[in-house]
Amino acid sequence: MHDFSGKTVIITGAAGGIGKETARQFAEAGAKVTLVDLNQQALEQTAKELGLKEGQHLLVAADVTKESDVKRYVDETKNKFGRVDILFNNAGIEGKFALIKDTDSESLDKVLDVNVKGVFYGLKHVLPVMIDQKEGAIINTASVAGLTGSQGLSPYVASKHAVIGLTKCAALEAGDKGIRVNAICPAPINTRMMRSIEAGASPDSPEAAKELYAQAVPMKRYGEPHEV
Ligand code: NAD
Repeated sequence: MHDFSGKTVIITGAAGGIGKETARQFAEAGAKVTLVDLNQQALEQTAKELGLKEGQHLLVAADVTKESDVKRYVDETKNKFGRVDILFNNAGIEGKFALIKDTDSESLDKVLDVNVKGVFYGLKHVLPVMIDQKEGAIINTASVAGLTGSQGLSPYVASKHAVIGLTKCAALEAGDKGIRVNAICPAPINTRMMRSIEAGASPDSPEAAKELYAQAVPMKRYGEPHEV
């Protein structure tokens, strides 16, 4: 990891598998980190587990589906640290495992709200800060599900294709202003999310689903959060 001393990083979904590991690595590399997730207690537990020092971190309980919450995590970061160098726009949910014909509209809305609107609002409120600074980098967490289809996960797949589209638009809008916007597309990563997807795909034998998903990865295994 590079030296990130003096840099400020916002991480959404920071109490989850990939977000927490990202927070760990940025903090170890000297960055100041704003951890954003739904639940204050989970954030406090994360900060404790990572051994984050006072003055090096900020915890913001926020729901990324609410624009006012997103504005708040950006404002609080600017107030405490003065700038936003990096946004890891990472909070996401998998939704219920179901075929399209069996997917209810609430479940569809929820996945699109978190995975698409949450990423959109993050871009909307962080880009102006970075444009003022004339530098910054944004990483949106898409997925291999943003590149291919997957049975039983249509809202998730649609949402991650949308994240790639938003990333392309933001990169075009901000590229000449010193800001890089990229998406990452991890294959299955060993977190709570895959346990949920395995149980949805094969309720009687989640282990069998895990094996099938792993065999579709060139490495023949899941990635670990630290590899993301
Ligand atoms: P995770 O469930 O461990 O973490 C997701 C975190 O996002 C949780 O802590 C959750 O509380 C938070 N979150 C959910 N809704 C939120 C909301 N409305 N506002 C704020 N926070 C919210 O899952 P993960 O595997 O760490 O996933 C992180 C990201 O990586 C997601 O966008 C996911 O789609 C993506 N991804 C995961 C995998 C995988 O196999 N695990 C693969 C590719 C992409």
